[in-house]
Amino acid sequence: MSSVPSTMKAVVCDKTGGPEVLRYTEDQTVPKPGESEVLVKNKYGGINYIDTYFRTGSYAEYTSVSADRVVKLPSGLSEEDVLGSFLMGMTALSLVKEAYEVKKGDTILVHAAAGGVGLLMGQILKDLGATAIGTASTKDKCDRAKEHGYAHMINYKDIPDWVAEVKKIAPEGVNCVYDSVGKTTWEGSLEAVKRKGSVIYFGNASGPLPPMNIAVLAKKNTKIMRATLMQYVVTRDELEYYSNLLFDYLRDGKLKVNIHKVYDLTDVQQAHKDLEGRLTSGKLLIKTS
Ligand code: NDP
Repeated sequence: MSSVPSTMKAVVCDKTGGPEVLRYTEDQTVPKPGESEVLVKNKYGGINYIDTYFRTGSYAEYTSVSADRVVKLPSGLSEEDVLGSFLMGMTALSLVKEAYEVKKGDTILVHAAAGGVGLLMGQILKDLGATAIGTASTKDKCDRAKEHGYAHMINYKDIPDWVAEVKKIAPEGVNCVYDSVGKTTWEGSLEAVKRKGSVIYFGNASGPLPPMNIAVLAKKNTKIMRATLMQYVVTRDELEYYSNLLFDYLRDGKLKVNIHKVYDLTDVQQAHKDLEGRLTSGKLLIKTS
């Protein structure tokens, strides 16, 4: 502990707002771990879409975390692959294992398929023997998603009636929609799903869903859910199950991890602008030390 400095480089935010509220500082006090906590020296931090909802300023050289939340980096895997897929990979795995359990032969629709979670989902769905249909907003993103397991891609920016396109591929609808876009897609997702199918909402990149009348679900006996990884990795056993499953996928070469860019800590505002501006594909990392 003697080599731990008293202050560190960090990005903090004193108020909510746009990327401009993120402030780089070299004077942030290094946290002191409490009982049952460990101090982690961060080499990279992951930028996740959820950071833009809260702008918590969670990027720093050191973090104090509960010791039972720490997972040992497995040997034989590249640091970038593990860091670039850790949260998103466990998210994708929990969605296909528990939120809706994907079965061989299923047809599944994933929005924002070229995003960080999306590129991992495509590969996992293909591995499970499902036919993955994805949506994305540019041709480049559609091409990239096809290289990551998607059998079909729909550009939902150019084709506003993307539901009709889904129905051309799956006339009865899909078994499940994984929707992290929210406001602009939630209604179409309910249309795209087949009778007795599931719609799993797990993010709001375009804004939150409006209040929904539950009676609409009776039209096709649709199941819906709002899922979050954090409720699937509450116990130590659950955390180890999903992290080990992810490491197995990486070790078996079943997951290509796409790092969009590694940003400097001083460039965190630009990273948020790129993510919210829909200019990224894959994982954004921040070099913290
Ligand atoms: P992404 O890399 O997927 O970025 C978000 C993507 O959403 C964009 O690239 C864009 O893709 C699409 N999008 C559609 N409409 C908009 C809009 N109006 N503004 C901005 N983006 C839009 O991010 P992540 O991989 O980090 O996260 C994906 C989603 O998963 C997020 O909603 C996130 O909150 C959620 N998530 C949820 C977790 C959970 O536990 N529930 C855990 C981790 C992530 P395109 O241009 O192709 O439309």
